[in-house]
Amino acid sequence: MNIPPSRVLKFGGTSVADFDAQGRSAQLVANQAESRIVVVSAAAGVTNALVGLSQAVDAGAAENFRTLIHDRQQHFFEALGSPDALKANYWSLLEELDGSGPCEGQARDRLLSLGERFSSLFFAERLRQLGLPAVQLPARFLIATDSQFGHGEPDVARTRQQVQVALADHQGEILVTEGFVGADPQGNLTTLGRGGSDYSAALLAEAADADWVEIWTDVKGLYTTDPRLVPSARPLAELSFAQAAELATFGAKVLHPKTLWPAMRHDIPVFIGSTLDASGGTVIRREVQGERRYAALALRKNQTLVKITSPEMLYSYGFLARAFSLLAKHHISVDLVTTSEISIALTLDERGSEQVLSQAVLEELRELGTIEVQEGLALVALVGDDLNSTPKVAADVFDALDGINVPLICHGASPHNLCFLVAGEDGPLAIQRLHARLFDKRQVAAA
Ligand code: ADP
Ligand code: ASP
Ligand code: MG
Repeated sequence: MNIPPSRVLKFGGTSVADFDAQGRSAQLVANQAESRIVVVSAAAGVTNALVGLSQAVDAGAAENFRTLIHDRQQHFFEALGSPDALKANYWSLLEELDGSGPCEGQARDRLLSLGERFSSLFFAERLRQLGLPAVQLPARFLIATDSQFGHGEPDVARTRQQVQVALADHQGEILVTEGFVGADPQGNLTTLGRGGSDYSAALLAEAADADWVEIWTDVKGLYTTDPRLVPSARPLAELSFAQAAELATFGAKVLHPKTLWPAMRHDIPVFIGSTLDASGGTVIRREVQGERRYAALALRKNQTLVKITSPEMLYSYGFLARAFSLLAKHHISVDLVTTSEISIALTLDERGSEQVLSQAVLEELRELGTIEVQEGLALVALVGDDLNSTPKVAADVFDALDGINVPLICHGASPHNLCFLVAGEDGPLAIQRLHARLFDKRQVAAA
């Protein structure tokens, strides 16, 4: 294989959690002559602390969060030798932190971006200390978004323009920037949603015409399921865009759900590897070798099930259209849908549930029929190939779920997934049982 000439490397929170982790990540950049853009997350835990600060209930709580964040950053600054060249920028970030408190909207996005802004300042310096020509370039000059604070929608064309200018201005240099952060047309900082640094990396790769994206994290790739839930889960050497996108959408936290969109648009392979052990990893690309009946399992918590029941549905038309246009009017996105003669059942994830529970929406839905809402469910997704045209799939799955109640199942629309809901507390058990049945057992059988 030809060596790709330009790469975007992203380091997640655990990979820049402290000075040692930062050093391992910086070394990975140094090892690759093709490194062109480096995207860094906030050090692990810092964004959570910033969220805490933005919601602090009293002055004491706010002060505790500020101290925690301050101490984490001071650790890097001192370990780097308190470089003079960093002082002005570092102090101005600290000043911004000291002046922050509970906030929302635009001010909250600015506050949440602080973790990444500290992180990229230090990471660029670490690379320079390794002798690399690294320059820190704020993401507000690269990633253009709209003004939806908290979940900015990227403007791909404007991002491309900005990134191309930056690359031309910094030929021969490694650009170090913040993940998760962008700016709206007025120059206000925006964020792409929690876990959004992966998405930043893919957007920058697309805009830079890069050949390869690397997501460096704390696991050696995409596993057959979350290794924290199932210790026998194993990394997959490769996966198609379609399968990986389904896994990310259905809860595999290792990839932000939108990460693969730019990669697919531009056909850029995405590698996932661990900074704790850089051997191995998963490559996600358009074409993969052979079929994989069962690829992986994902779990997404905090799902809401809404059931609309109305005898009017019987032999009538337009009922589904009315229900969906009502949900669309309130910007509620629906994940799974099943229907029977007189009822529709649909699921909404955490964000949707907040909206659906608003009294106004419920009132309107009640005009369609009787409404039942069940919260706190878990969505389990099995991702693979030809799942809707293989005889044994349903038997395998239902066998494994013996004794676990399944209030909703969706199967058939996609050859790549089979999804169902279980009670929140049954989610991990369902994953463990399915993994034992579909993955561990197959391994034994194949041996
Ligand atoms: P980072 O901070 O590097 O972005 P994340 O915590 O966002 O890392 O994602 C890595 C975590 O994703 C892993 O530690 C693992 O627990 C979780 N995860 C969930 N599903 C999977 C999966 N299928 N394969 C690998 N990791 C997974
Ligand atoms: N720091 C941000 C978060 O914790 C973005 C990221 O790490 O991807 O959500
Ligand atoms: Mg992440």
